[in-house]
Amino acid sequence: MSTLPLLIGGEERPSASGELFETRDPATGEVIAELAAGGADDVAAAVGAARDAFDGGGDWWLPATRVRVLNRVAVLIREREDALADLESRDTGKPISQARADVAAAARYFEFYAGAADKLDGRSIPLGPGFVDYTIREPWGVCAVIIPWNYPLQIAGRSVAASLAAGNAVVLKPAREAPLTCVEIGRICLEAGVPAGWLNVLTGSGDAVGMPLVTHPKVNHVSFTGSAAVGTVIGEACARLIRPVVMELGGKSPNVVFSDADLDRAMPFLIRSIVQNAGQTCSAGARLLVHRTIHEALVERVAERMRSLRIGPGSEDPDLGPLISEEQRQGVLRLAGEAEADGARLVTGGRAPVEERLARGYFIEATLFDDVAPSAGIFQEEVFGPVLVAAAFDDEDEAVALANATEYGLVAAVWTNDLGRAHRVARRIRAGQVFVNTYGAGGGIELPFGGYGRSGHGRGKGLEGILEYSQVKNVCIAL
Ligand code: NAP
Ligand code: MG
Repeated sequence: MSTLPLLIGGEERPSASGELFETRDPATGEVIAELAAGGADDVAAAVGAARDAFDGGGDWWLPATRVRVLNRVAVLIREREDALADLESRDTGKPISQARADVAAAARYFEFYAGAADKLDGRSIPLGPGFVDYTIREPWGVCAVIIPWNYPLQIAGRSVAASLAAGNAVVLKPAREAPLTCVEIGRICLEAGVPAGWLNVLTGSGDAVGMPLVTHPKVNHVSFTGSAAVGTVIGEACARLIRPVVMELGGKSPNVVFSDADLDRAMPFLIRSIVQNAGQTCSAGARLLVHRTIHEALVERVAERMRSLRIGPGSEDPDLGPLISEEQRQGVLRLAGEAEADGARLVTGGRAPVEERLARGYFIEATLFDDVAPSAGIFQEEVFGPVLVAAAFDDEDEAVALANATEYGLVAAVWTNDLGRAHRVARRIRAGQVFVNTYGAGGGIELPFGGYGRSGHGRGKGLEGILEYSQVKNVCIAL
């Protein structure tokens, strides 16, 4: 079993305290690696290294250098696809084909933001003959990047690549539940030529590493991806420091299916959007809102497909892998239990699979509730498991009202062949991304992504993603 270090100032080292923590394979519960458990001293060292790198500048200040090096990172990620996908699948439990897609997406983020690194230009503002006025996009300085365990490669990819490309020095804190590929991303960046100190990787807990990092006096910007609960704590800390923070939080995203939709086309998306990564996806399609005339038939069709899904460890490339931990599974089962108490009708699932070979892992069957009232907890709360809730609507207004009936607003999909309705509903839904007759588009690397309401603020991915990691300076010269 390997013991993995921190990456600080271009050097791999144990934590100052020498303490370690373990990460497990969710399919079996077995410990697969030990990692350095960072603390406040390590945060100080990493932020110091990042600060020195940023202030020292050197070749990394040249956009063309960042373009070249970040493209090399993408090449190395692709060359190591097998190893990275295997690691991601074992650490998170996700099916290996999904882990491969995550590797490809991580490489794409580095390519995409490499391509943007030398295009962050400014404006020239006409003030008349007495002035020359122009804007410059500048990096913030030292960026703290805190990410969750569900898509470590993708989320580290998009945050770190955008932040580095914009010219920041970065300290990345992965989640304890799935930190392994982030350690590898640190190594790959160093090998590709990201100079020492520009990317530091600190494994360890939210309390011991996360909060000291967020509040360190020399950090200039925070990017947080995770739960609304932790986002609130981090947001409060940042508010006290007047520190800018991007919040990518949770969701309860709807698939809104009108009676004129092409259901054969919709079906795979309706299933995949809630089953992918065992439903532990911020943008999971967790609510199925269906026109009443087709509601009953569609719910039955979805249930049938759910019952036929293959469940197993990620290495077998099943349809549905385990959840990340026993704690997570217990949380999902608790919410499912409460749903029945709230009057929702359990159509399928709602329990751990009975197969003996799955007994040690954190598995749960794909679960569907129907006739779920908008007031029910299961309609409102992010479950973060393969649990879909269905409800019927009678007309377009009610569909929009139901879609907007939670505090979240991350993603939505509208299924209809009526062009006018597609545009109308897309505008009325309060969510950062609305899809029509699809759910997701490739990895979504190029598309701005982020929340309305309780899903957060700021945008990751797309060109908007790199703009978050820079600020505008105006220079005004009187002639
Ligand atoms: P989480 O519990 O909020 O943790 C996220 C990260 O914050 C982890 O690295 C965690 O560290 C750290 N953390 C915890 N407490 C902290 C504190 N007091 N100060 C600083 N950092 C702290 O979320 P999760 O359970 O890992 O992930 C699931 C959540 O992430 C879901 O709500 C999901 O919707 C959301 N998510 C959102 C997006 C998006 O882009 N919108 C993408 C993916 C996931 P440790 O866990 O290691 O202690
Ligand atoms: Mg957590």
